[in-house]
Amino acid sequence: MTRTHFHEGDLIGVLTTQPIGRVLDYKAPEGGCFLGAFVEVPLGPRKVMGVVWAEGQGDFDHAKIRPVTRVLDVAPMAEEMRVFIDRAAAYTLTPLPAMLRLATRAPGLGDAPSMRKVYRLGGREPDRMTDARRKVMEVLRDYGGLSFTLGEVAEMAGVGTSVVKGLVKQGAVAEEDAPRDTPYPRLDPDYGGKALSEDQTQAAEVLRGAIGSGQYGTTLLKGVTGSGKTEVYLEAVAACLRAGRQALVLLPEIALTGEFIDRVEARFGMKPAEWHSGVTMTERRRCWKMVGQGDAQLVVGARSALFLPYRDLGLIVVDEEHDTSYKQEDGVLYNARDMAVLRAAGCAAQVVLASATPSLESWANVEAGKYRRLNLTSRFGAAVMPSMGAIDMRNEDLPGGKWVSPTLRDAIAQRLEKGEQSLMVLSSDLYGSARAMKAHIEEIAQGGTDIIIGTQLVAKGHNFPNLTLVGVIDADLGLQGSDLRAAERTFQLMRQVAGRAGRAEVPGEALLQTYQPEHPVIRAILGGDEEAFWAAEAAERKAAGVPPYGRMAGIVLSSPNVQEVFDLGGEMARRDAPLRRIGAQVFGPAPAPIARIRGRHRVRLLVKADKGVPLQQALTEWVGQFRLPTNLRLAIDIDPQSFY
Ligand code: ADP
Repeated sequence: MTRTHFHEGDLIGVLTTQPIGRVLDYKAPEGGCFLGAFVEVPLGPRKVMGVVWAEGQGDFDHAKIRPVTRVLDVAPMAEEMRVFIDRAAAYTLTPLPAMLRLATRAPGLGDAPSMRKVYRLGGREPDRMTDARRKVMEVLRDYGGLSFTLGEVAEMAGVGTSVVKGLVKQGAVAEEDAPRDTPYPRLDPDYGGKALSEDQTQAAEVLRGAIGSGQYGTTLLKGVTGSGKTEVYLEAVAACLRAGRQALVLLPEIALTGEFIDRVEARFGMKPAEWHSGVTMTERRRCWKMVGQGDAQLVVGARSALFLPYRDLGLIVVDEEHDTSYKQEDGVLYNARDMAVLRAAGCAAQVVLASATPSLESWANVEAGKYRRLNLTSRFGAAVMPSMGAIDMRNEDLPGGKWVSPTLRDAIAQRLEKGEQSLMVLSSDLYGSARAMKAHIEEIAQGGTDIIIGTQLVAKGHNFPNLTLVGVIDADLGLQGSDLRAAERTFQLMRQVAGRAGRAEVPGEALLQTYQPEHPVIRAILGGDEEAFWAAEAAERKAAGVPPYGRMAGIVLSSPNVQEVFDLGGEMARRDAPLRRIGAQVFGPAPAPIARIRGRHRVRLLVKADKGVPLQQALTEWVGQFRLPTNLRLAIDIDPQSFY
């Protein structure tokens, strides 16, 4: 049995965030330490952060082993988290230190708690009461017992910060020092629940039962956009909070979090913790620490929120589970949807995968009996699915340099006359920054703009009640790609985009501009026969032995030296015995579709294997045979999503 506590001088193994291939031996510090403790250790001339990972190996000169410098003032990493990091590293073939870095991406974890000024009622009346002052006093009275920063008070009262400062001078508001990393306000699961429709009620009931089981399970929550999936999974969050466990909601786009946070506040009375690249460093550290000590009940975030040190995670929701942005394509290559399932399985949590257009992977897991499936069929309220039609571009008179066909233009003009909105989806990113994007979307949602020129971002879950026409400028784009998920993505994108129209009372219309109206994919979209599409697509993939019915791994070699990458690629393809032993095949080397990035030439190999074979083990053995030239980088992508 592994020991969980070490006395001063005991030999311990510490995993650091430094790129070193093994867990290093140290001596436990004065006062001892727990397994999982975050520590600072000397490494050469530096001090680095690490986690007490195991007992020491002891295969090193005992006299030379140095003691841990100090134990950091944060909650130790739970065993569940250490196991998760181990498994995620083994699955994605990521070195453990890189995995630990991913799990500690918050600045100043080791710093002493810093202080900040907070404000509460001071007890005295101000000399003169103004409207602005009254608002501040009211806000502080309403939230008695809680303390807020200057910015928060001013924002909640809708006044300038000088008003608050003025009240401080008069003793009407008190200014105090408080630790910066404070617990998040408690969420109230009974605060603002909606009356659910019949199938929403049934779905929520099943999810509540699943949470109540206290066991792992995954549910695919499928329903057209606007059918109330969010409403339903918020009920699962409520059940999780009532059970005293933590919940995580993953969203595919940062641009969606603002709108979602507002919904959480309306449902639970308070805002949840947020974790994504748009969050300030201070707030990131607060989130990380509070999650670790159980003082954040709900985290809303991007994929890396999966690697936070939850005390007791009971539910992970992956919203828009089919979204390709859940695959991290840089650094540690992982798919957040798959890692969510891995993590949940290790901590007896439930996973809810929500989508109008599930991935074939999830669809197949339902078919195989691994996931439960819940359907929300009817839309809430009077709205109906839009009617869909193709615009056959072969019959349209399209001047060069123009995208919008006369037929589509007429349809837009009709909407303008009626004061309704139209959405066009283009593939290029027209918005310079997330902020501009957000401002634009808010303007659109209030009916301030009649034609929305959208990127793919717009297709993801925003609410536009007055939108009645969706025009897809180039429906064929996704059909021409060579990767295996091209058909699936086109299908999903169209349905997602089409689902925007008619969310409110007015029924919508979706028009796809296409040069191939007879293509099976376009026909499946227009026909709306989803199960037929999935069944046909599944049959094709099964026959080809590709995911989700087979396994793949992509290997990308890159170097400034083009000769080197092809030489090594060729050698790897020849010396493939470890792969052949498990019946796997290697394809390539071939220039990667993006053959050069920042002066580095890229060459790709693709490995294909049957399901159920020890692929990672074989890959490790195979790659381990080769010596890499200094400037050459080798990246392994398990279950590649994109093929660039
Ligand atoms: P989805 O996540 O499937 O797109 P949402 O949960 O966002 O659907 O629901 C779409 C809209 O309908 C939202 O504005 C939501 O608040 C509203 N809605 C859904 N179900 C209900 C309900 N039972 N009562 C009131 N409003 C609802």
